[in-house]
Amino acid sequence: MAKIIDGKKISAEIKEELKVKVKEYKEKGIDITLAVIQVGNDPASSVYVNNKKKACEFIGIRSLAYELDENISEKELLDIIEELNNREDVNGILVQLPLPEHINEDKVIEAISPLKDVDGFHPMSVGALSIGKKGFVSCTPAGIIELLKRSDIDIAGKECVVIGRSNIVGKPMAMLLLRENGTVTVAHSRTKDLMEVAKRADILVVAIGKPKFINADYVKEGAVVIDVGIHRNENNKLCGDVDYDSVVDKVSAITPVPGGVGPMTIAMLMSNCVSSVGLVKE
Ligand code: NAP
Repeated sequence: MAKIIDGKKISAEIKEELKVKVKEYKEKGIDITLAVIQVGNDPASSVYVNNKKKACEFIGIRSLAYELDENISEKELLDIIEELNNREDVNGILVQLPLPEHINEDKVIEAISPLKDVDGFHPMSVGALSIGKKGFVSCTPAGIIELLKRSDIDIAGKECVVIGRSNIVGKPMAMLLLRENGTVTVAHSRTKDLMEVAKRADILVVAIGKPKFINADYVKEGAVVIDVGIHRNENNKLCGDVDYDSVVDKVSAITPVPGGVGPMTIAMLMSNCVSSVGLVKE
């Protein structure tokens, strides 16, 4: 029987732990503030932003909401970020992506101070991760490492295959698995014989962005499968990049969708906010 990795439960544990830490900081007179910037009112972005604000409230982090008009110029947005970079009372800055087309996302990401880059997208944060230095780590892959560790799944020495090489999931995921001493292969759309590569994996992380793409034929008996994908199926129900029903009897552990990787992303964002304390004044 496969172990179902319960991301909802693990993320709730992490949030409880963070709540205690935040309370301890408050008792020492230290407040934590996250600035959340949303440009325009894309409904999906609004849902994510609201969930982040709710998580802040639960943990005791102050959130500053910047709801900006979708026609705001790139310069005006960069000025707001600069002002937030300089504010000593702001620990973290988050710009909800995607941004409208007239704004260069890379420029915006690079404008955020690496000391406040709680999303872990700044090139300095990415560079620090690749050379094993301290820095913020992209929340979804960081959450996956927590899921594995808190489920007592060893990474060291394991064959780890990551399918997908995006900057926010696949690449940082590969770096983190490497940091944990996994033997890491990254597969992508140009990989020859994906099935053969995926089947080598003791730990298979799937971040393809295609509903139910990975079925039992891609999975080794007894593998651990982490499904990063989130989609709505034909019945408007959530599903992942993995065909859960097809693989569940073949694997030793698996994350469901919903309730697997998804809840961990916000928990790790909150964790990054808490660990940002002190960085600004250093
Ligand atoms: P992305 O930027 O679209 O990247 C997808 C990756 O999959 C690319 O590297 C692409 O290869 C690769 N790929 C596409 N088709 C493939 C194929 N047939 N065979 C092998 N590789 C293939 O996606 P992402 O941002 O990493 O997100 C992936 C999924 O995770 C999406 O469903 C997204 O919604 C979800 N997601 C969930 C969370 C969460 O909190 N749970 C967070 C972020 C993302 P190329 O590079 O060669 O094009």
